[in-house]
Amino acid sequence: MFIETDAVVLKNIRYSDTDSILILFTKKLGKVSAVAKGSRRSNSKLLACSQPFAYGSFMLYKSSSMFNISQCDVKDTFFDISKDLKTLSYASYVLTLTKNAVMENQTNNRLFALLLKTLYCYAYKEYDFEYVTRIFELKYLDYSGYRPEVTKCVCCGSEELAGSLIQPENGSCICGACARDGQPHIRIDPTTLELMRYIIVTDFNVCVKAKVSPFIVGQLKKVLRLCLRANIDGYEEQITY
Ligand SMILES: [Zn+2]
Repeated sequence: MFIETDAVVLKNIRYSDTDSILILFTKKLGKVSAVAKGSRRSNSKLLACSQPFAYGSFMLYKSSSMFNISQCDVKDTFFDISKDLKTLSYASYVLTLTKNAVMENQTNNRLFALLLKTLYCYAYKEYDFEYVTRIFELKYLDYSGYRPEVTKCVCCGSEELAGSLIQPENGSCICGACARDGQPHIRIDPTTLELMRYIIVTDFNVCVKAKVSPFIVGQLKKVLRLCLRANIDGYEEQITY
């Protein structure tokens, strides 16, 4: 049975001298591993679509337990990402996070679209990629089911958030009363919290155009690290920059 689906290559694993196994984030099947036969040969038709970041329409078929790639129509290799080491490290980090969040047979179209928009940004735009990566992280948490609570107290549900207090364990808001009752808390800049609310409800391509100070981006990074550590298994080992 053949299945045609759009997919992004998350990882290329050497399988033999001539073959690779690709970990794909597909639109129709979620994450799948697929053999790209002959893709390590320099004249292979699958060479271009076997590199990490490559995005295309893949034709897959299943034999025994594994998927095989019969052909691929490459839509973009996002080649320019690899021209700059810093950009490459941001993009590799985003791929790793995605690889660990998506499951086999579980589609996630919002995350799929977010990944493509983010890779497109790294390859073709000149925004502050430190900030772009934060936008990815927050939307990634949201689309993976781990959106931090930023509109009401995570302990008591109160919407009276007088200060900008968050829980150090998970980066969600707590109210002043719960903080006074002894709940662990740290204070962040109100702008950082406003920015989080803005990013959650605003389209990625609009968010990236906002001008945000390095201080706020740095604080956002700290808060999102708390959220990621609390929710994503093995997160520490995934930090590549
Ligand atoms: Zn509370």
